[in-house]
Amino acid sequence: MTTAAPEKAPARENLQFQAEVKQLLHLMIHSLYSNKEIFLRELISNASDACDKLRFEALNNEALYGGDSDLKIQVTYDKAARTITISDNGIGMSRGEVISNLGTIAKSGTREFFSKLSGDQAKDANLIGQFGVGFYSGFIVAQTLTVVTRRAGEAEAVRWESSGEGDFTIEAAERTGRGTDVILTLREGEDDFLSSWRLKSILTKYSDHITIPVLMKKEEWDKDKNEMVVQGEFETVNQAKALWTRAKNDITEEQYHEFYKHVGHDYEDPLAYTHSRVEGRQEYTQLLYIPARAPFDMWDRERKHGIKLYVRRVFIMDDAEQLMPKYLRFVKGVIDSNDLPLNVSREILQESRDVKAIREGCTKRVLSTLEDLAEQATSGEDDKQKAKYATFWKEFGAVLKEGVGEDAGNKERIAKLLRFASTQADTTDQTVSLADYVARTKEGQDKIYYVTAETFLAAKNSPHLEVFRKKGIEVLLLSDRVDEWVVSNLTEFEGKALVSVAKGGLDLGKLEDEAEKKEQESAEGEYKDLLKKIQDTLGDKVKEVRVTHRLTESPSCLVSDEQDMSAHLSRLLKAAGQNAPGVKPILEINPKHPLVQKLKYEEAHFADWVSLLFDQALLAEGGALEDPAGFVKRMNQMLLAL
Ligand code: ADP
Ligand code: MG
Repeated sequence: MTTAAPEKAPARENLQFQAEVKQLLHLMIHSLYSNKEIFLRELISNASDACDKLRFEALNNEALYGGDSDLKIQVTYDKAARTITISDNGIGMSRGEVISNLGTIAKSGTREFFSKLSGDQAKDANLIGQFGVGFYSGFIVAQTLTVVTRRAGEAEAVRWESSGEGDFTIEAAERTGRGTDVILTLREGEDDFLSSWRLKSILTKYSDHITIPVLMKKEEWDKDKNEMVVQGEFETVNQAKALWTRAKNDITEEQYHEFYKHVGHDYEDPLAYTHSRVEGRQEYTQLLYIPARAPFDMWDRERKHGIKLYVRRVFIMDDAEQLMPKYLRFVKGVIDSNDLPLNVSREILQESRDVKAIREGCTKRVLSTLEDLAEQATSGEDDKQKAKYATFWKEFGAVLKEGVGEDAGNKERIAKLLRFASTQADTTDQTVSLADYVARTKEGQDKIYYVTAETFLAAKNSPHLEVFRKKGIEVLLLSDRVDEWVVSNLTEFEGKALVSVAKGGLDLGKLEDEAEKKEQESAEGEYKDLLKKIQDTLGDKVKEVRVTHRLTESPSCLVSDEQDMSAHLSRLLKAAGQNAPGVKPILEINPKHPLVQKLKYEEAHFADWVSLLFDQALLAEGGALEDPAGFVKRMNQMLLAL
C-alpha cells in the first residue's frame, strides 16, 4: 500500500469485533435457533428506536427531516438474491457510530458477565435473556448482514458488512436520504422466511405495537405463474398506534408482553405489568413492567433502559431516572405525559414539581402491583400466579430493601413487602414477612429479633441464637449487604421493635422466667472476680466482660453496645473502603460451659485461654483475627495439654 491521506478514513477497513461480541454471537446462534423469528422483532425494534430518536432531535432542529418527516419502516425481500431488507428513515448512523454500535457492547459490566459464563452451553444459553439479543440476532438466520446507513444531516453513507465470525468491514457508500437498511442474506435452509405471508405473520405477532408504520409490498395471485407476485405498492401491516393509548380491553396479554420486549430490550416475558391513565392535576399514562429476571448489570447504578418518557406521544428520552426512585430501578416501561413541555431536558426533569408528582404516582402504582403479587402468593388461583412474588423477591428483593431508607413516605408499605430468611424456615430462601413473624410471636414477646452476618450460614449458626433456639423464639437471619441499612432505618413494625440479638444487654423481658433470672444473678456474683481478671487480661480489646444470657452451648460471644455500630456493619464499611469508627465489643462468657468453669482454676495459661475465648467468639461472628498465627499456636498448645 502507498500513502493514504491521514485525515480521511480509509476507503475500506477490516475491523475486529470486541471479544465479548464474538462470545455473544456464538452463544446466541447456538441458543436461539429454536426461536429464530425473533430477529425480525429486534431489527424492527431498532428501526423504531431510530425513528423516535430522529423525531426527538428534530424538535430542536427541523432541518434534520430534510423535507421528509413521514417516518416509516419498510420490509422487503428478494427471492432470487435470498435477502430480506429492513429499511427505516430514522436517525441513521455516522461511521463512528456504526463502529461503536455494531462492533462493541457498550454496557458496563459486560466483561464481568462474559467471564462468568461456564462453557456449559445449556446453562449459558439461559443467560442470554439477561443480556438481551438485539441487532446481532440477525446472524441467527443470516449468513451475512449488511448495513447501509446515513446519519441525518450528513452527506455520506457508510456500509458495514459481516458474517458474524470475528470481523466486519466498513466502507463509504451511497444512500438516497437518511436512515438505515439492514440486509440479511439468509443461511442455507432459511428460505421459508422469503414469503410475504410468513413475514407478515411474524410482524403481526411481534411488532404490531410499534408506533411507526411498518410497510410491506402488496401481493396478488398471478394466474399465469400460478403463484403470489409482488404488486409493487406498499401497505401498512401493523396497527402503528402507541399501545399505551389504546383501551386496556383491546390489548391482549401477548401484545403487552411483546411491547415489553421492545421497550425493555428484554428477551423474556415480564412478570407483571400495570397500565393506567391518570387524570387530575397531572395527566399522564403509565405502562410499567416488572421484569422476570434481573439484568446482569442490575448493580450498575449508571445502567440504562428503564423508563421511556414520552410527551403527547413524542419520544423524549430513555432511562428517565427522575421518574422512578432508585430502589425501583428494575421497573421498565413508558410514561406519556400530557403536560410536560416537549423541550423538557434532564435538568428540567430534576427540578420539576410536576415530575415529582408523576414519580410519586408511579411509585404507588408499582408498590400496589407488588402488593397484588404478594397477595396472590397466598390466595392465587394457579401455581404460576402463586410463584410470582417469590420470583420477584429472588431477583429484586435486595433492591427493594433499599426503599426502606430511601422512601420515608412509603416505608410502611415497603416493610410489608419485605421477605427474610428465618430460623423458622431454616432455608436460604427469603420467604418470611414481618407480618408472618408477628403472627408467630410467643406470648409476651414484644420484639422482632434478627441477626446480621456476612453469609446465611454465619447467621444461622451464630452463637447469639442459642438462647432463642432453646426457647423456640424465631429470629430473622439477615445476610444481604443491604440488610444493615434496612434495620438501621426500620426500627419497628406494627408496634414491635426490631432488635439485634447481638446488641445490648438482651432483655428478654417476659420471655424469661423467675428461676432463670435468679440463676443469672447468682452467676454474676459468683463470677465477679473472674470477669475482672479477664477484663484486665484483654485490656483495651474489650469494652466490658460480662456473664451471658444468650449462650447455651458456646463458651463465649461478642456483642456490641446498644448505641454502638454493629460489628458486622463496621466490617462492611471497612470492606467498602469507608471510615468506620473502631467499635470495642463486649465479651460475654457462658458460666455453664466447662471451659469457662476450668478457667476459674487456671493459673499458668490463663492469658492464653482468655485470648482463645475472645478469638473464637470473633471468628464465630465472621470477624478477622488480629493475630491468626498466634491463635493457631495457642489452640495447638491447648489441644496438646488435653
Ligand atoms: P439496543 O437496541 O438494546 O441498544 P441493539 O443490539 O439492538 O441494542 O442495537 C445496538 C445499537 O445499534 C443501538 O443502540 C443503536 O444505537 C444502533 N442501531 C441498531 N439499529 C439501528 C438503526 N436501524 N438505526 C440507527 N441505529 C441503529
Ligand atoms: Mg435493539
